[in-house]
Amino acid sequence: MEFAALAERAERLAAIDGDIETTLAAADLLADAGSAGDADAADDESDDDLSVVTRFLLGRVFPAHDTRTLDVGPALCREAIARAAGRNVSASDVEERLAARGEIGAVAAAYDFGGQQGLAAYGGGRDALTVAAVDERLRELAAESGDGSESRKRDALFGLFTRCSPSEAAFLARLVLGEMRLGVGEGTVRDAVAEAFLAPDPDDAGDDDASDDDSDDDADGDDASDDDANGDDDSDGPALRASDEAVAAVERALQVTNDYGRVAVRARDEGIEGLRAESLRVGRPVQAMLAQAGTATDAVDSFGEVAVETKFDGARVQVHYAPDGTAPADADASDRDDVALGPRLYSRNMDDVTEALPEIVEYVAERVDVPVILDGEVVAVDDAGDPLPFQEVLRRFRRKHDVDRMRETVSLRLHAFDCLHADGDDLLDEPLRVRHERLRAALGDAAADLTLADDPDAIAAAERDALDAGHEGVMLKSPEAAYTPGNRGRDWLKRKPDVETLDAVVVGAEWGEGRRAELFGTFLLAVRDEGVASDAPDRDAFTSDASGGDALDDAADLLPPGYATVGKVATGITDEALGDLTERLEPHVVGESGTTVAFDPVLVIEVGYEEIQTSPTYSAGYALRFPRFVGVREDKSVDDADSLARVRRLAGDD
Ligand code: AMP
Repeated sequence: MEFAALAERAERLAAIDGDIETTLAAADLLADAGSAGDADAADDESDDDLSVVTRFLLGRVFPAHDTRTLDVGPALCREAIARAAGRNVSASDVEERLAARGEIGAVAAAYDFGGQQGLAAYGGGRDALTVAAVDERLRELAAESGDGSESRKRDALFGLFTRCSPSEAAFLARLVLGEMRLGVGEGTVRDAVAEAFLAPDPDDAGDDDASDDDSDDDADGDDASDDDANGDDDSDGPALRASDEAVAAVERALQVTNDYGRVAVRARDEGIEGLRAESLRVGRPVQAMLAQAGTATDAVDSFGEVAVETKFDGARVQVHYAPDGTAPADADASDRDDVALGPRLYSRNMDDVTEALPEIVEYVAERVDVPVILDGEVVAVDDAGDPLPFQEVLRRFRRKHDVDRMRETVSLRLHAFDCLHADGDDLLDEPLRVRHERLRAALGDAAADLTLADDPDAIAAAERDALDAGHEGVMLKSPEAAYTPGNRGRDWLKRKPDVETLDAVVVGAEWGEGRRAELFGTFLLAVRDEGVASDAPDRDAFTSDASGGDALDDAADLLPPGYATVGKVATGITDEALGDLTERLEPHVVGESGTTVAFDPVLVIEVGYEEIQTSPTYSAGYALRFPRFVGVREDKSVDDADSLARVRRLAGDD
């Protein structure tokens, strides 16, 4: 494909309004780039155009997993443009225009690059640029290194610009600076690949005999046309025809390969089955699975049983290792590289950080003897092995020089918490439970712990342990969930840090049990309620009948006027604090029922919680979720305690 054709179509693509229209136009472009019957590109290269065009559309020369970069900065690009634009143009002219127009493509397109002679030495000349030639030249440019590489890169770019029409120059400038901005994102390209190569033929779509496996038509789902059972062109406006299944197959192949170009070619040549056959490959990083913020209650509510892991405060690392004599697994034999691969380490952005972390490389090589892809966190530790703040890891993580010296200064440890591949098996679709077993099998005790918990108190206890050990907190994961690369879903929750605490008045308590029978255990909390006062229940109405329901709720009936209850706290109180609270509150008991007592409002305590929810259980109409005792507010009298108005604000209702 000619580069000019791509550049012009990209320009038109950028001008299209509407997601479906953009996807369809991108699909057309991919279909054309990938059509082997392209008359003026009868050589083999026409096949390769598809992968290059797909990457170029996303502003990439290399796939995302590839650690090569062009390493062309804005200054170098401006210099190359200036040189190609002629003697009267300087890099600062380009810079000024850039400041005025704000976008390098428009600036490059405004120069006339055609007028110079004698450019053949720089790869210039009269022949039209092809997509393949631009790609090849840029790959050569990326391979430049060492002395003089900067000026060789400038020459190479200059040579390309001199051959550019305005739209080619705009495309090239945006491509080398990674500023493509065509309004064609990864999701659009994914859908366009499905549309171009996996959608049913429009001529078949309306036929009844094709409709049995034609769930495609209503599976267009997320788009406007799902009311149209036949999905044909009789609806208003254009529609996507590729099935959800096809889009999912493309998405899946992208997750495991991280290469849009490769996936487009696969889709064209081998269809859905070919895409499904794509697998992970040791040595080719995938995107990390990400977490959302959530609470212990969220985790218990959604997962039932929760996999609780320590949240390590370091830098994410993906470990790829194929020990001696073991071939990396790959479904496609032609694509195998049956070579041993020493441990390679990749950052969350899939940069290769192996050289900076030699002790992690050694650590993995010593322990692992099957091919693996592991996910984990590298943490800086002190001499005792205790974690150091995250900033310390950064001193090591991307370091290219003085690695050995820094190794003496900052020690690192790997906490591997997941296993994506082990010994020939891709594990992405396996539940976390199983992946963790494989992790243990591969790494032994060096695997990070995973404990299962189904109650928030156990999670709170695990969190305290993690914090006490100097870690950041806990991650709460669904033990049944697959590993979804790049996805920030609800299957992994990072526990939200506590919100503001509340200073509440203790208005009731329940005696403890067993060895704590002499101490109060659970405390009823209230806030000031300026709005409601005199119609509070009569305290003498407190009866001795504590049966049927929660005894502490009876104590709530004895609320002093001007207070509203918001919850109970039993967590986070040491034996010593319980003794102290009992001693201070016992003289203020004003009513008793079974094991429950009510107090005069005399003591303010600070409580933490995960969130405040509306609730009919307490008279405030709100309940603290996971209240945790923080301490007694010695400095506050009950008149200084928090009010119902503040609770409303904290709950987001005001
Ligand atoms: P955040 O950076 O706050 O979004 O938290 C998510 C990050 O926590 C992940 O990207 C990891 O780098 C890190 N992390 C630490 N421990 C774990 C763990 N056990 N599971 C998953 N991620 C973890």
